[in-house]
Amino acid sequence: MPPTDCIFCRIARGEIPAMKVLDDDACLAFLDIAPLAEGHVLLIPKAHAQTLDQLSADQAAAMLRHLPALVKAVQAATGCAGVNVLQNNGKAAHQEVPHVHFHVIPRNPGDAFGFNWPAGKYPAGRAEQLVQAIQDELSR
Ligand code: AMP
Ligand code: ZN
Repeated sequence: MPPTDCIFCRIARGEIPAMKVLDDDACLAFLDIAPLAEGHVLLIPKAHAQTLDQLSADQAAAMLRHLPALVKAVQAATGCAGVNVLQNNGKAAHQEVPHVHFHVIPRNPGDAFGFNWPAGKYPAGRAEQLVQAIQDELSR
């Protein structure tokens, strides 16, 4: 999707409104329009990138440095008991808006939001194979 049509690029350019809580040269944070809980915030880079892997380390750092304060502020402002930071990449991972964003989601015991977390187990030798494959990719 070209940045001209991207809804979060349009928010970053001020073409459509958003309830902003943070705004600097590199990024923006605003209330999610359809919150999973009151105070659900999205943190985005101003430059268009579809998925996290498309950001440079510097672009990611410029955005993620705000996360600790943002989590703390959302927690204090809403009085929630916990916070999920969630970041979806690709349709298979439930990404609906193809512009990188981190969800900051207030959580409370018994709230309606939840994960299906089907924890698995590696067969013998598979974990070692995966460690090698991931390390090979990281060293490219
Ligand atoms: P994801 O499924 O990770 O792509 O999440 C996209 C999020 O963007 C959803 O939680 C939407 O409610 C939110 N969203 C979509 N359009 C807007 C908008 N104009 N302003 C604020 N949040 C939005
Ligand atoms: Zn965009």
